[in-house]
Amino acid sequence: MSALNTANTKNTNLYDLSFEELTAFLAGQGERPFRARQLYSWLYGKGEGSFAAMTDIPAASRARLSETARADGLFLAESLASADDSTAKYLFGTDDSHYIETVFMKYKDRNSVCISTQVGCRMGCKFCASGRLGLKRGLAPAEMALEVILSEKAAGALAKNIVLMGIGEPLDNFDAVKKFIENFTDDHGRDLSRRAITLSTCGLVPGIRRLASELPQVNLAVSLHAPNDALRREIMPVTKRYGVAEIVEATRQHYETTHRRSTFEYTLIDGFNDSPAHARELAALLRGMNCLVNLIPLNSGGYRGAREQSSTNSSVHRGSGAETAQRFRDILGDRGVPATIRKSLGSDIEAACGQLRLRYES
Ligand code: SAH
Repeated sequence: MSALNTANTKNTNLYDLSFEELTAFLAGQGERPFRARQLYSWLYGKGEGSFAAMTDIPAASRARLSETARADGLFLAESLASADDSTAKYLFGTDDSHYIETVFMKYKDRNSVCISTQVGCRMGCKFCASGRLGLKRGLAPAEMALEVILSEKAAGALAKNIVLMGIGEPLDNFDAVKKFIENFTDDHGRDLSRRAITLSTCGLVPGIRRLASELPQVNLAVSLHAPNDALRREIMPVTKRYGVAEIVEATRQHYETTHRRSTFEYTLIDGFNDSPAHARELAALLRGMNCLVNLIPLNSGGYRGAREQSSTNSSVHRGSGAETAQRFRDILGDRGVPATIRKSLGSDIEAACGQLRLRYES
């Protein structure tokens, strides 16, 4: 890359660089091209960011790297494991003293890691703890890569899937998110399939279009949470910018372009959006689409935040009961819209978006 004249900058984070950029960076230090391959495999294949540990790289090269570059940027501040040990939540601190959360979920043979994409969020969803302090900044590609790598290390397992469903709105930090995905799926490094990555959005329509054209293998999840604009506006202010019909249409087009089945997330809030009429309205909206609805009973840890933040939303209080969720699912299913009820993993460790961070960040 011609714009890359960072060879003498101490702060070049190697996890921010594409393979081509790393090759150029190393060439600037007089290294031959195979060094980039070696380094990329350390960084992503082995998840090793410490130059001292890279013992097959000559000491002189490592010394030069230590002076000009880094491959760190997050520290583990706290970790919590759920009682059944299936879910671990990691609180990471950043260089500039912010905190973000990463959740590592262990399933039999498909471990999954849920990463944050921003420090905070500006979307303001009423039930979500992530937005309570607003947006501080977007995360850099290196920070997202380190969330995966450091949480894998802490969990003692590798992730097969990455979901961008933690703190922040990934499509509000598109360029950095794209770079992270490109780096992490580069076949010189980890060589993870882009099909193993899912991005969740509150429905930023231009971003959904960009995702379809620029990262077509990445799976899309859309946080819908209500079947019409009036109801959705009460809990998701972003609805003023992009209405339900427009979001659903962008999701339909995403499928036309990518042939990847999207997921709609629907948080069931007791007495608010969980009636049979709501289910029928949602079914009519999504009928004929190749999609899956994920029903998630509200994690009420977020409600305590919501109530403090918004006294007008007295109807947004707690998750729907199991029977209501099943009835909702059955109404969708009967109308040809496949739906599952997501088991809420890790509610005992404040695993819902942004709940743990609030104890640290101010
Ligand atoms: N900004 C993106 C991704 C982060 S939120 C998005 O909106 O999709 C990830 C998911 O968790 C979203 O579906 C969000 O609506 C949901 N969520 C947030 N707080 C929640 C809570 N307290 N209970 C249940 N789901 C919650």
